[in-house]
Amino acid sequence: MNIVLLGKPGAGKGMFAEFLQKHYGFTHISTGDLCRKNIRDNTIYGKIVEEHISKGQLVPLEIILDMLKSEIKKETSIGFILDGFPRNIIQAKELEKIVDVDAVLMIDVPDEIILERILNRRICPNCHKVYNLKDTNGKCLECGTVLVKRADDDLKIVKNRLQVYEKETKPLIEYFNKKIIVIDNSSQIDVAISKIKEIIDNLLKKTGENVWFVGHKKI
Ligand code: AMP
Repeated sequence: MNIVLLGKPGAGKGMFAEFLQKHYGFTHISTGDLCRKNIRDNTIYGKIVEEHISKGQLVPLEIILDMLKSEIKKETSIGFILDGFPRNIIQAKELEKIVDVDAVLMIDVPDEIILERILNRRICPNCHKVYNLKDTNGKCLECGTVLVKRADDDLKIVKNRLQVYEKETKPLIEYFNKKIIVIDNSSQIDVAISKIKEIIDNLLKKTGENVWFVGHKKI
């Protein structure tokens, strides 16, 4: 079973994807993480990816697809959680050539909460865990490394990313239509997590899959 997580930057896609990976054994693919890894590792794509990320723009399709395809080729126990892909209808059509999309969880959060969360978001440069500054003393709770801000979590870039979301990504709600399941993540995180759990349990019951099913792939 393959699930797409849709939502504005900072809506909590990464956190829900992590939960789904730990709880059910889904394979989490974050195209944003893949982009940042390419920058860190200074790959052939690194420079061009950085140029786009630093402006809050989408990275060119061929690069994103290349990164995505090599992840999807890897084995998965139950299926994939796609976090940050697709970002527009062209990407959605490309995705459907590679894997079946069973459900799309749309994480809904109003803009004012998004801005507050993103501006307080900090990451551990060592183990890449994500925190809200308010919940830490500035250091990673796992490895003690001093937390840093993501380069694109700057107010001007965030505003651009939100515009890109409105223009490019929001039309996917209509595109995926009946596959869309809306999750409100504007208040208590535990409430959103239990809702997601209920949804996935029901989907698994319906498809008759268990968590050790090998996700169906087209490539
Ligand atoms: P994220 O971590 O998902 O917020 O993504 C951070 C940045 O990576 C985005 O603002 C884009 O520049 C780039 N990116 C991530 N996923 C995609 C995608 N599917 N298509 C194009 N660019 C992407």
